[in-house]
Amino acid sequence: MSISVFDLFKIGIGPSSSHTVGPMKAALKFSEGIEEKGFLSKVSRVKVDLYGSLALTGKGHGTDLACILGLEGHAPDQIDPNYVIPRTEEVRKTHLLNLSGKKEIAFDEPNDLIFHMDKQLPYHPNGMRFTIFNEEGVELFSDVYYSVGGGFIVDHFSASQDAHIVENSHSVPFPFHTAEELLKHCQKHKFSISQLMMENEKSWRTEAEVREGLLKIWQVMKECINRGCQEDGVLPGGLNVRRRAKSLFRYLSDPGRLHNPAEIMEWVSLWALAVNEENAAGGRVVTAPTNGAAGVIPAVMHYYTNFHPDPTDEGIITFFLVSGAVGILYKLGASISAAEMGCMGEVGVACSMAAAGLAATYGASNEQIENAAEIGMEHNLGLTCDPIKGLVQIPCIERNTMGAVKAINASQLALRGDGIHRVSLDQVIATMRETGNNMKAIYKETSLGGLAVNVPEC
Ligand code: SF4
Repeated sequence: MSISVFDLFKIGIGPSSSHTVGPMKAALKFSEGIEEKGFLSKVSRVKVDLYGSLALTGKGHGTDLACILGLEGHAPDQIDPNYVIPRTEEVRKTHLLNLSGKKEIAFDEPNDLIFHMDKQLPYHPNGMRFTIFNEEGVELFSDVYYSVGGGFIVDHFSASQDAHIVENSHSVPFPFHTAEELLKHCQKHKFSISQLMMENEKSWRTEAEVREGLLKIWQVMKECINRGCQEDGVLPGGLNVRRRAKSLFRYLSDPGRLHNPAEIMEWVSLWALAVNEENAAGGRVVTAPTNGAAGVIPAVMHYYTNFHPDPTDEGIITFFLVSGAVGILYKLGASISAAEMGCMGEVGVACSMAAAGLAATYGASNEQIENAAEIGMEHNLGLTCDPIKGLVQIPCIERNTMGAVKAINASQLALRGDGIHRVSLDQVIATMRETGNNMKAIYKETSLGGLAVNVPEC
């Protein structure tokens, strides 16, 4: 089992990787299974049961829409974000669902898509079951999936072995589960972290394809920021949150405005706001490593391209590979699911990844990179997930600006040191895992605690 950088940076749609992208992928996989098993001609009803965090915050995160569209055969990286709302409205109006895009069946949403608020499946808080029935109401086939964060899904059997494992049995030349292993490989083979990652990535794709693929991801991130800077108005969901990126962009672009020493940070905040407002609006977003935290890495990457003395495509590729290495460490050593780790697993991890990626672009040693990643997480430990109304808006959008600014600071602190430091990245990941495990469920993407209960919804 191995994780590619392209598993962490995936093109998808907002607002949530675990609650939108993952469920859409699971529903699509289930609908493909119906065809493969020869049930398509016999099925006359499909039922979706959502459990745990998927049930508690699924409405605000678009889990219902994701399941409907996944069952209709759509994938999060292919679907046009502008199609999502009109098509689900049509399904709701006509009570007809086009299963796998091939067979229209009756769909009565209140009975066929159930949010089990008080129940949880055994292996992960984000559980879902899909079931099909024939005309006589006899069950034909059922399957359970877990959405384990960042758009990763696992089936029931895999989850019963280890809820965090991913779906492949691929092996890479330089496998690592800890930062210590990663650094040892690098030392032994005289690799930088980005060189080692490239060697591993080449077990999936050619080097040219890796480079091209990463630059395409960067292009999608840039397009997301550009769209975010052009849109204003109020975000959907009923919280009446106004989009701010456009007016901030106008302000910062005004040549006549007064300059201030903190304006670089204002630009960084703008880029993060733009991405997360697009995400909250259900737009095209790249998981980095999740949707809720999708603004941190693009904002810090923009900082690199705008304020580094000599930004290059090579630097962007290095940024992705190094931040990807750090993301893999969190995925394997703890979790990138807010339902398990709170916001440490989203914005905390993105901050740590971005700090490492940025340090690498400034020529940091492997030890300084590890230090940057460690600082990026150390000061996010204990960060809870308590989105108001279950929407990925408050505190999520602003929190990405904080994650991006903190990542730049972490990177600078590491670059001014010599790589020798007291707390290791592995120790901080272990601490994160322990803190997440001890955190009450009300602070782990359930909207049952924190800001979600202390701030009136309107
Ligand atoms: S609070 Fe953090 S983890 Fe929770 S939904 Fe928002 S961004 Fe994601």
